[in-house]
Amino acid sequence: MKITLFGAAGDVTGSAYYVETDSAKVLVDFGLFQGGKQAEIRNLKLPPINIGKLDSVILTHAHLDHTGRLPLLIKAGYQKPVFATPATIEMSALILHDSAKVKKMDMQRVNRKRSRSGQPHIDPIYSTEDLDHLLKLFTPVPYNEPVSVAPGISIRAVEAGHILGSVSIELTAVEIGKKKVVIFSGDIGPLGMAILKDPAPLPYADLVFLESTYGNRDHKSLKDTLLEGETIIRQAVRDKGKILIPSFAVGRTQQLLYYMAAAFHRGDFPVFPVYLDSPMAIEATNIYMKHTELYDEEAMELVRSGELKADLSHVNMSTTPEESIALNGLEGPLMIIAGAGMCNAGRILHHLRHNLWMPETSVIIIGYQAEGTLGRQLVDGAKTVRIFGETIAVKAQVHLLGGLSAHAGQSDLLRWFDVVAPSKPKIVLSHGEDKGRKPLAEIISKRYGLSPILPEYGDIIEI
Ligand SMILES: [Zn+2]
Repeated sequence: MKITLFGAAGDVTGSAYYVETDSAKVLVDFGLFQGGKQAEIRNLKLPPINIGKLDSVILTHAHLDHTGRLPLLIKAGYQKPVFATPATIEMSALILHDSAKVKKMDMQRVNRKRSRSGQPHIDPIYSTEDLDHLLKLFTPVPYNEPVSVAPGISIRAVEAGHILGSVSIELTAVEIGKKKVVIFSGDIGPLGMAILKDPAPLPYADLVFLESTYGNRDHKSLKDTLLEGETIIRQAVRDKGKILIPSFAVGRTQQLLYYMAAAFHRGDFPVFPVYLDSPMAIEATNIYMKHTELYDEEAMELVRSGELKADLSHVNMSTTPEESIALNGLEGPLMIIAGAGMCNAGRILHHLRHNLWMPETSVIIIGYQAEGTLGRQLVDGAKTVRIFGETIAVKAQVHLLGGLSAHAGQSDLLRWFDVVAPSKPKIVLSHGEDKGRKPLAEIISKRYGLSPILPEYGDIIEI
């Protein structure tokens, strides 16, 4: 059995594992490379796999860096099933449609420029028709039950606790009467994260692909993070300012709403209106609300008692652009949660333009801000920024609130691995840069006497 890594090898995007046995070929995840021009070029070309011979695709979760290259398969003629949990299917439809929309708008802009310079138009890498075709291939898999996905290959999907619907995949392949078990961790969430159940470790494997995004460190504790957040918000409420939170639509936003509901519920926290100003985040929240079967005990209890619904009554959803613009005229204190998470696009830009110059405004950054984004400039303490071609003074207070990551830190990764380690699997650290995977590899080799493999793009692992 051979597994080739066509992404997330030495970096954190483009997850794609090509599994070949003597009787079948499957892909686990087929995600987009993200970050700059180079990534965009890599996304245009299919890796050297024979699409006609591919039996199925299996998804760990809906994030674009695990699903974003799927439409390319359709363009190349792929017609077989794409296996995923029901929540991942719904979330993938939402995320891929949004991505297609953004790509279409980008392409229109590029083509307008090309028209002006007399160059021919270029087509988007895939169309919404390709996407509709793809969505028809989605095939739901249950949690914790073996499902046959190709001749001689079955999988079992278990909770990964990262975003709604996320799973680790236990893949069992039989070759010449011999059984081999491979685990793809997918992205693993931190223990104790709100709403979702904790990741479920698996006890046995011949080979493990373990994500290593934060293999080098632990996050600040959730308790300290929430306390820090509350202190910032209390002050912002006293200042009667607007609290702006750039947030990723899927996962982070729902965590945030949950923590706000919990704070409002306690009775000792100021109550003020919260505006969720992102159509995509609103849709993602609706999908979260629908899949209560995936909630942990604590969240489930709040659903049963009706408390969650009552506490979320302070949250207003702004779907239309008019509703979004109307927020400019409102007086603080209020909170606006809007995308994009790194302030490089979306409605948050309008709110930043209208409010950054006011000292009573608070901006709370809760996610990773990549180099070159407006969010990164704010975190780095820029005194002025450019938004829509206008120079805006940054008088607002900018707070960086770490600790709300949807990825397990080092200790939680090791706790997960602890369970499978006694079966002495071959271990590959994927989905991590050197700064994440090298320190984790060192600990794993010291603690378990195993020699983790740190793969590069195109590397083949054989068992
Ligand atoms: Zn993810």
